[in-house]
Amino acid sequence: MSEPRGSLYLVALGSNMRHRRHGDPRGVLRAALKALSRGATRLHAAAPIVSSRPLGPSHRRYANSAAIVSTALPPPAMLAALKAIERDFGRRRGRRWGARVLDLDIILWDGGQWRSRDLCVPHRDFRTRGFVLAPAARIAPRWRDPVTGHNLLELHARLTRRLPLPRPAHGRAHSSVGRATDF
Ligand code: ADP
Ligand code: MG
Repeated sequence: MSEPRGSLYLVALGSNMRHRRHGDPRGVLRAALKALSRGATRLHAAAPIVSSRPLGPSHRRYANSAAIVSTALPPPAMLAALKAIERDFGRRRGRRWGARVLDLDIILWDGGQWRSRDLCVPHRDFRTRGFVLAPAARIAPRWRDPVTGHNLLELHARLTRRLPLPRPAHGRAHSSVGRATDF
């Protein structure tokens, strides 16, 4: 079988429900990482699985991870492939903050940005989510967010230390600070 090369995606994985066969959320994510290495996708790196506090009213613990995946699929087909895996794991849609066996989100794509009715890449909310940024920064610290120009390490540092974003390099290049202060 030929390698499905083409694009690299950074995928965020989350679970907060047990699965009949795969067990607790950590077991669900281990099985999901295997699913990402089959079919049209190849797994290049996987972050250690972390547990985090629940967001919203579901009162469950989450397990989270992140993966770098290569595939020939363009973004809409990649989203469809991720949704097919979610369905295989028994996910029913409709309860946004509720219990879910498996959530797979596209965070970044090496092709840059993608906007369509049901897909936005980079993911709209990832810059404020520690449970996405922490695992993602472990496997792809230098991967740059094409919207802000900051890499994952910088975005994570900003969130956890509550620092303002460092200025992008191109901002400094165009700075009009006078030479007299340049010593
Ligand atoms: P969430 O992941 O925000 O908790 P869902 O998994 O139910 O919620 O996703 C809701 C919808 O968000 C999906 O049906 C999908 O069409 C859309 N969506 C938009 N951008 C993305 C993305 N980057 N990754 C995954 N889904 C996305
Ligand atoms: Mg999702």
